[in-house]
Amino acid sequence: MRRALLLLCLAGSGLQAQPRVLPPAVKNFTSVDAPVIAITHVKLVDGTGTAAKSDQTILIRGEKIEAVGPAASISVPEDVRVIDATGKSVIPGIIGLHDHMYYSGMKFMGDSYPRLFLSAGVTTIRTTGSVDSYQELNLKRRIDSLLIPGPSIVVTGPYLQGYGGFTGAMHPVSGPEDARRMVRYWAEEGVTWFKAYTQISRADLGAAIQEAHKHGVKVTAHLCSVGFREAVALGIDALEHGLLTNSEYWGGKAPDQCPTVGDSAIYGALDINSPDVQRTIREMVAKKVAMTSTLDVFELSSPSRVPFDQRVLDALAPQFQTGIANFYNNAKTAKDSMNRVTFKKAMEFDRAFAKAGGLLGAGSDPCCISAIAGYGDQRNYELLIEAGFTPEESIQIMTSNGAKILGFDKVVGTIKPGMQADLVLLGGDVIARPANIRNTEIVFRRGIGFDSAKLRESIKGLVGLR
Ligand SMILES: [Zn+2]
Repeated sequence: MRRALLLLCLAGSGLQAQPRVLPPAVKNFTSVDAPVIAITHVKLVDGTGTAAKSDQTILIRGEKIEAVGPAASISVPEDVRVIDATGKSVIPGIIGLHDHMYYSGMKFMGDSYPRLFLSAGVTTIRTTGSVDSYQELNLKRRIDSLLIPGPSIVVTGPYLQGYGGFTGAMHPVSGPEDARRMVRYWAEEGVTWFKAYTQISRADLGAAIQEAHKHGVKVTAHLCSVGFREAVALGIDALEHGLLTNSEYWGGKAPDQCPTVGDSAIYGALDINSPDVQRTIREMVAKKVAMTSTLDVFELSSPSRVPFDQRVLDALAPQFQTGIANFYNNAKTAKDSMNRVTFKKAMEFDRAFAKAGGLLGAGSDPCCISAIAGYGDQRNYELLIEAGFTPEESIQIMTSNGAKILGFDKVVGTIKPGMQADLVLLGGDVIARPANIRNTEIVFRRGIGFDSAKLRESIKGLVGLR
């Protein structure tokens, strides 16, 4: 503990970059750990949404980015560790806003997921639906103290769920006072966000939001019983997933209840430019309610669309690999085709929200099947581009927009002098060939360069188990 404290003090001083003493559990996964590091001749996607710049140099001193600019104009001091990144790209560390710490049956993945997230370039996560908030708080502290490798974790409290539905690890909230009690307790324990869930009532959600705000804590939601506009009116801070969880377009929806008639085909027939949908977006934007796009998990409803990724099989324990085979066997069904149509509408909604001035972030929901930590966040890059964003805007959504939503944008999310050195070195040109988002070579967090391949190798066969 004492050593961890000392490390943090050194990090905070910012005067000189002394070599850090990392424990073997961290050191074994690093490929670059030097007081000053220069990444030269790299293609820079800085997270601000502006056009990528070729032949740039990034100077990292200690935990921070000291200088960024054209390779010809940045003088690289003697005796620094130089990484010639000719032909490679760099992006800010990915900020995954819907990045659970669990998989299959809500099992806590405290061992495999931190390394898997980091290996995939995800340097900050918000857990957004927690199966065990104490596990997450303790894990966060260990990572922050550099005792183990992993992303910075924004811990959410246990799900705020009503009666019915998905309650295995959830306390069913029984009324406004119960909602307040739960929020108060977990806010005092140190969680900084809550996620309300599908069966919550308007009264309980409103009470939870009020109590959370009293404690400086924020609330987001995966809704169903409450519509987006109702949640916006109650003062919610953010909404998860986007269009396909907004029940307000279903005819005959009863207040405080999920729709029970018809099916999600209604979204396929929806006109995103219609007054109803535009009103939802307008009200979200007016109240500054952010939204998390989770296209990668929506895509799982159309297995025929989902690219096969050998890395997923490698990461999964054998008993979970059969789930992947079954998943792809469901490809050519009527439901698959129908879901392709609704999926396009979800993309259109994300675009319309951003175009109207909404703050859109991204997250991967690594809960199940082929959606595992990190790889879904990478897939989101390709899907956001397919939705109509430029590659640079897509990176912005996945990095600096996420930082803004979390209130961290003065520290992470962009590659600029003074920012914390959370950035990802990718093999190849990530603008010309978006699939290069998967070619993570070195993932820097707080200036420590982690070896992506070593991290990935270390979790083989573990996902699903621990
Ligand atoms: Zn989720």
